[in-house]
This record gives sequence, structure tokens and C-alpha cells, in this order.
Amino acid sequence: MKEFIDIKKIEALLEKKKNPSDFEVNKVIAKAKKLKGLSPVDAAVLLQCRDKKLTRRIFKTAREIKEDIYGRRLVLFAPLYISNFCKNSCLYCAFRRDNKALKRRKLSFEEIRKETKMLIGRGHKRLLLVAGEESDLGYVLNAIKTVYKTKFRNGEIRRVNVNVAPLSVEGFRRLKKAGIGTFQMFQETYHKPTYEKVHVSGPKKDYTWRLYAMDRAQEAGIDDVGIGVLFGLYDYRFEVLALLYHVLHLEKKFGVGPHTVSVPRIEPAFNAPLSKKPPFKVSDEDFKKLVAIIRLAVPYTGIILTTRESHKLRDEIFKLGVSQISAGSRTSPGSYGENVKNQPRSAQFSLGDTRTQPEIIKDISLKGYIPSFCTACYRRGRTGKAFMKFAKPGRIKDLCIPNSILTYKEYLLDYGSPDLKRIGARVISKQLKDIKDSKILRKTLLLLEKMDGGNRDLYL
Ligand code: SAM
Ligand code: SF4
Repeated sequence: MKEFIDIKKIEALLEKKKNPSDFEVNKVIAKAKKLKGLSPVDAAVLLQCRDKKLTRRIFKTAREIKEDIYGRRLVLFAPLYISNFCKNSCLYCAFRRDNKALKRRKLSFEEIRKETKMLIGRGHKRLLLVAGEESDLGYVLNAIKTVYKTKFRNGEIRRVNVNVAPLSVEGFRRLKKAGIGTFQMFQETYHKPTYEKVHVSGPKKDYTWRLYAMDRAQEAGIDDVGIGVLFGLYDYRFEVLALLYHVLHLEKKFGVGPHTVSVPRIEPAFNAPLSKKPPFKVSDEDFKKLVAIIRLAVPYTGIILTTRESHKLRDEIFKLGVSQISAGSRTSPGSYGENVKNQPRSAQFSLGDTRTQPEIIKDISLKGYIPSFCTACYRRGRTGKAFMKFAKPGRIKDLCIPNSILTYKEYLLDYGSPDLKRIGARVISKQLKDIKDSKILRKTLLLLEKMDGGNRDLYL
């Protein structure tokens, strides 16, 4: 099988577009504004642009595109680490098998229930279930079942996304049956020689098995897949172009691109030397640029930014087209009840943004975003191609805005402090003005009224 990542082709492209003219950059920006995405050639032009003024224009365009497609909503989630046992030795990760000093923990189902309750009690509605590569699939499936079954007061988890090691088609079929939202997995680096150097042992060593994981997921019927790169392992320009080739491959073969793109950057991890000195450390400025370029190149995709990054940088990057964010996270199994400062011996990596979920919600509300706990699309069957039918022409906003209003209202009623309730009410009334379709507005107002009357889980 000929792989869709061609190193030589990507390198040649970057070389060819090494010094783009202002005219070329502006032409690509103008093309991006049409919301049809960019080709790898176009993206190479932007990746090679070093001009500060033009870079600011790229940033501005990224923000406009995100708001055109999704509005000012930021969807919130939290990761749920269920096990840190792992048979691989990824040099950047604290969970790597050779890290004998790591405190290993595999949560029992009772412990998973407890963690889930804690997250529900904080208002979460969607989780990302995470595990090292050790756990058998049966354990993961039962963990998902446990999460969905857990109820606490008015709340429950309504969408479980999963980030675990790649499976066979049969394995993905079983995962699909468990009712997952998105299957998320990162290639880490698309540069094969680097990949082979940093994954020293275990099944993850097989670059090609990982590269085609999303093909197998799609074949098994999981049509919302999330891809990503672990930035810092290789040149970010190469990685972004390779990621775009991955997008094109999925679009061509399955008629549907990735539901989300994640942009993790390597963070310091306990006893993982490579994490402290990443070979291709990405500066904050370059990081901002690469997020903005992904937004221009794949306008319909959700871009996920986690608590790996600091509060300050997250604020800047939210403006560049991010649509999903984690909040109040822990990267160690069973640590939601613990102080965030006490987790390094069993955690996967250290966190940049350690604020609590309510602090983050208040902050983003004051900055003009609307926090969203929406899980509507996947529950209404708007996944894969059906989702893209709304997202690609920019129609998903008609649903995202009302659904963010409804789920934020629910959060305010059940978890909001009096102060946040006041702030949230202002955000909601402002967002309601953005609903242009009178039918949708009427429906949203009706559902808001029902929510005040005690109903929950209302969405379009
Ligand atoms: N073990 C599975 C795997 O590797 O695909 C699934 C989950 S792994 C715990 C989740 C992701 O964490 C990895 O794909 C990697 O990109 C990221 N990660 C690992 N070490 C990291 C570090 N030091 N800083 C930031 N992200 C890291
Ligand atoms: Fe294991 Fe995943 Fe960490 Fe690699 S990144 S050591 S596979 S948990």
C-alpha cells in the first residue's frame, strides 16, 4: 500500500514556497475567507510566511472563520484517565513502560464511577476517556458503560469521546457499539524516521498501523474521528502539511474529514527526558500561527486546545479559531478529588492551565465567549457526512449557538454561583440576538422557559 504521507513531496513543497511574496500570502488568505479550505500548497505559503503584518492578517482571518462557522461558542470537556499502565515506551510520556518510578494505577469501575460523579458534579457533560496502551478492550468498554450509567443529581455524561491506542476494525466495531462520540488518536509525528526514533518499543512502534487507524475506525462505522500531532517532535511546518494530507486522504476515501484536530504540544513529563527538551520545540508565536493556519485550511473541523497550555496563551489562542477546550483537567488516574499540585508521580504530563472549571467558565464568559456543554449533534445522528453537510456550508452555527445557550443555561441553573448566573444571563441575552432565524429563536426561547420550569437536557 502506498502511504499518503510522502516525506519528499512535503519537503519539496516547503522548499518551493520558502520565501512567499506578500501577493501570494494575501491571495491564500482571500481564498481561505471563502470557507472552502486550503490545499497543502496554499498552506505551505502561509507556513513559510514570516512577515509580522501578514501573520496578524492570518490570525484575524482565523478568528473570522471560526465565528462564521461555529459562532463564539467554546465547547468544554474534561479528560478521564482510567489507567496509566502502558506497554509502549514513547520517550516523551511519563506513562512509558520503562518509567519504573511512575506510580501505576488502573481504576476499578467503582473508582471510575466516583471520578465520573465528581465531574458531573462540576457540570461536565462530555468526557474524553484516556488510557495507556495496556488495558484490554473489554476494560475500556466497561469503563464507557460505567460512565454512561452514572447519574448524579440533575446531571449525567452525555458524550464519551475516547483516546486510546489504535484498534483493529473488529475492535473499533465494539467501540462503536459502546456508543462513543469521537475516536481520537494522534499520529504524534508524521515523520516516519522521527516516529521510529521516539517510539522505542511496544506495539506503537508500528507507524503504519497507527497511520491507518482512522481508516479502520471509519470502516467500522465510527465516522467522527479526531486526529492530531504532538508538536515538538519534528518541524511543525512539516507536521501541519502532513496533517492536511491526512485530512485529504480521509475526505477522498470516506467523503468525510476529521471531526476534530488536536494540537497538543509536548509538556514536561515525569521521568521522560525528551519531554523536557523536545527536539523541535515550538515557540508560542509559531504555535499560534500553526493553529490559525489549520483553522484556515480545514474550516469545518473542531480544533481542540487543552489545559497543557498556560492561561495566558490559551486566551490568545482561543481567538485563533479554537472551538473545544478542556477545563479543570487532571492527567493522572483517580485524581479529580485531589489538589492539582499533588499529582506528578502518576500524571502523564504537567498542566499549564490549572484553574478550576468555574474560574475558566467565568473568565471566558467575561471575554465574550459562550461556554457550551452541547452534545446534540451526535445524539441527533449528525455525525460524519451528516455533520459535514451542516458544517461545511457554515450552517452548523444555526444549531451551535442555540445549543450553547441552552446548555449554558442548564449549567447556570444547576452549578452557577450567583455571580456567574448574572454574568451568564448577560452572555445569553447577547447570544440570543445573534440568532437570525426567527423559527429557531422562538424554539430556543421556548426551551429556555421549559428549563426554568425544571426540564433538562433540551437541545436542537
Ligand atoms: N496511549 C494512547 C496513545 O498513545 O495513543 C492514548 C492516550 S495518550 C495517554 C494521549 C496523548 O498524550 C498521546 O497521543 C500524546 O500525544 C500525548 N502526550 C504524551 N506525552 C505527552 C507530553 N509529555 N506532553 C503533552 N502531551 C503528551
Ligand atoms: Fe503509552 Fe500513550 Fe504514553 Fe505512549 S503516549 S507511553 S502509548 S500512554
